[in-house]
Amino acid sequence: MYHPQKYSIPDERMKPFIDPVEIWDFINQAKPEKQQVRDIIQKSLDKNRLTLQETALLVQTTDPELIEEIKEGAHQLKQRIYGERIVLFAPLYVGNLCVNNCSYCGFRAGNTQQKRSTLTLDDLAAQVKVLEDAGQKRLILVYGEHPRYNPEFIAETVRTVYGVKSGNGEIRRVNINAAPLDIDGFRTVHEAKIGTYQIFQETYHEETYGKVHLGGMKRDFNWRLTALDRAQEAGIDDVGIGALLGLYDWRFEVLGLVRHVNHFEAVYNVGPHTISFPRIQNASNLNIDRSHLVSDADFTKLVAILRLAVPYTGMILTAREPSAVRDEVLKFGVSQIDGGTNIQIKGYTDMAENQDLEKEQFQINDNRPLNEIMDELIGRGLIPSFCTSCYRMGRTGEHFMEFSVPGFIKRFCQPNAMLTLAEYLEDYAPPATKEKGYQLIEKKLTEFDDPQFKQRLIERLALIKQGKRDLYF
Ligand code: SAM
Ligand code: SF4
Repeated sequence: MYHPQKYSIPDERMKPFIDPVEIWDFINQAKPEKQQVRDIIQKSLDKNRLTLQETALLVQTTDPELIEEIKEGAHQLKQRIYGERIVLFAPLYVGNLCVNNCSYCGFRAGNTQQKRSTLTLDDLAAQVKVLEDAGQKRLILVYGEHPRYNPEFIAETVRTVYGVKSGNGEIRRVNINAAPLDIDGFRTVHEAKIGTYQIFQETYHEETYGKVHLGGMKRDFNWRLTALDRAQEAGIDDVGIGALLGLYDWRFEVLGLVRHVNHFEAVYNVGPHTISFPRIQNASNLNIDRSHLVSDADFTKLVAILRLAVPYTGMILTAREPSAVRDEVLKFGVSQIDGGTNIQIKGYTDMAENQDLEKEQFQINDNRPLNEIMDELIGRGLIPSFCTSCYRMGRTGEHFMEFSVPGFIKRFCQPNAMLTLAEYLEDYAPPATKEKGYQLIEKKLTEFDDPQFKQRLIERLALIKQGKRDLYF
């Protein structure tokens, strides 16, 4: 499967790096003992990355008392390092044409019941306007895999999104989730100023990968596995990895994700920006072996394990998950969630009451409007953030900086979260949310002990009340 020519590989970097025998050996040899598990949790709390062996010991832990300690460890790590912020974004589906046949996906070519369409640039702008009018500032554009969605098309859609301004609204960061490109293709989308390029390996187990990808370009495991290396080569250093949980044994996928992070650290000296761990949801004509579906108990445990294993990587949770699961894993350091989500093509302008599986990729479990989610987060004392400051100041790898630079969160993330929240409260929140939101901001202001900095922040908050926008540190 590995063809150096085809990958236009400049050197050894893009060689596939997943060895299933090695991963299973780590899992099978792990016989966790109480003290060992506690030492591993402590290692992570001391701000160290875990090895594959250590991660294997955690995934093999079944003692309920120790599982609680793993979750408590993840919670403590989040509290100590990341504090009480949560970044919000919305997905925007651009088109559902697809040449592939992924057995889990409603968009797959063989699903003749799927209603196919692609947004025109005007349709796209109309969706963006609705999202801006709800208060969104960060989007991820999602595409099927099709010759029509070539790099120039993707770049054009990204530029279109950045160009839409409605009232005080604007989209300040456009991420993409799209099929793997070649290096030139990645250069083209990089020039359109994408934020993160996100792609999920789906499963790190090559044999299973072959069974669920039944046709089309996505069949090539290594072309996908090395996509982010080509992205790096093209200058995109802000990338997101993920595994679609439910295709194969979740323990293998967790180690696969950690192995992917190791590859990044070894070659580029920095890990991926974010990790996603979507669980398979119902989809139109879903056609999968259900033996690996992940229970809520295993899911919450694995999120806590990932937090401990790669403590400086951003973690994304989506509206695939019901709110009860979301609430639990938010405590383990999930850094981004989507809110006000609709994944139908033209879904934000058509806003149907009911989901229609024939028009979307899969079913979501949380379709509450953005304000309901904002209101709930504020009520729980979390600061919803639309911050895009690092990206726009050229500070890439912000999650890593949050983790490793002392005072970074106090100096940048927390105040920027408060400023973007104030913008939201002024422009989009109903009165009750506005009142609660300002109470939260007041409370958070008391946590700043540098009087000069606090004064600067108070001044900026006052400017926002007077109508100034897009202020950040
Ligand atoms: N077509 C591109 C690709 O496959 O890379 C873009 C991404 S696809 C539209 C977004 C992601 O949705 C996939 O990578 C997959 O992990 C996830 N997905 C597909 N079917 C799903 C399902 N039934 N439930 C949950 N997630 C699903
Ligand atoms: Fe197409 Fe992506 Fe769905 Fe696969 S997951 S069928 S490539 S849209």
